[in-house]
Amino acid sequence: MMIVLKPHLSEEEINQVVEKVKQVGLSPHISRGIERTVIGAIGSDAPSKKEIFESLPVVEKVVLILKEFKLVSRDFKPQDTIVKVRDVEIGGDEVVVMAGPCAVEKEKLLIEAAKAIQKAGAKILRGGAFKPRTSPYSFQGLGQDGLRYLAKAREETGLPIVTELMDARDIEVVAKYSDIIQIGARNSQNFTLLKEVGMVDKPVLLKRGLAGTVKELLMSAEYIRSQGNTQIILCERGIRTYEDSTRNTFDLSAIPVIKSLSHLPIIADPSHALGKRDLVPSMALAAVAAGAHGLMIEVHPNPAEALCDGPQAMYPDKFAELMKVCRRVAEAIGKRM
Ligand code: PEP
Ligand code: MN
Repeated sequence: MMIVLKPHLSEEEINQVVEKVKQVGLSPHISRGIERTVIGAIGSDAPSKKEIFESLPVVEKVVLILKEFKLVSRDFKPQDTIVKVRDVEIGGDEVVVMAGPCAVEKEKLLIEAAKAIQKAGAKILRGGAFKPRTSPYSFQGLGQDGLRYLAKAREETGLPIVTELMDARDIEVVAKYSDIIQIGARNSQNFTLLKEVGMVDKPVLLKRGLAGTVKELLMSAEYIRSQGNTQIILCERGIRTYEDSTRNTFDLSAIPVIKSLSHLPIIADPSHALGKRDLVPSMALAAVAAGAHGLMIEVHPNPAEALCDGPQAMYPDKFAELMKVCRRVAEAIGKRM
């Protein structure tokens, strides 16, 4: 349930309510607005405790959140969440583009890609060091060396980096090197891993599962949020359907649906959704028009030689062209890019 406090309370008064929430066996989650503080009191028997809080003089009202996802819902927090990554803000008026190769390969190649995407206007560098591959015989990523190359590229360009975490045993090293920890589609419902990233103080980019529903994505985000991490970015990356003319089926409608249900930022990854580089631009533009807070796009200086996802990787010059048109679409709907 959501305990809405009266405006302008002192820290001590807020803390007394937080303590009371703990006393009755619920877990408190504080959300501070400009005027008012709201305390989410989570626990299966929350409804039976409603009256206890309604009777407190500092409480304005108590609202039960009927949806299964609670802390990530708009009911709990009506204002959009903005996730800050160094000096980049995701979730506000700027459409933030994350771009780079699927996998980190050679250091020089990564730096070349980083410079190209930066010049085109991307704000965050992507690249996988731990790769979730369908075949155990495919390139699995460079592991820690890949993380070091990413850090080097950040040092050279100033671009923050996003990279995937596949295994909880690597959480410390991935958190150490990255600015955003990516949880990929295949781990979207790895609840143990979700709880682990919920405990770190680092933004998390959570991708929609291979055949996940919007609700399942939001429940996964709830796992992260329930552990205390509020810095979550959602990502629509296409879902498996019977349609096989594209790698996945890009669910454009998920963007406005998620924006109506949740306060978390939602970005779109048309690269993994479409799977073919020539199809990426149209859906990137559509996603911006639909209100996505950002894009994730795979770009490789030499896609023919890419060790992973070459067919969907854009050439840097085509990516730069796309960025120009994206900017015009963003501006047409009152956003910046
Ligand atoms: C990726 O971003 O390289 C990736 C593996 O994406 P997804 O988890 O969406 O398949
Ligand atoms: Mn990829």
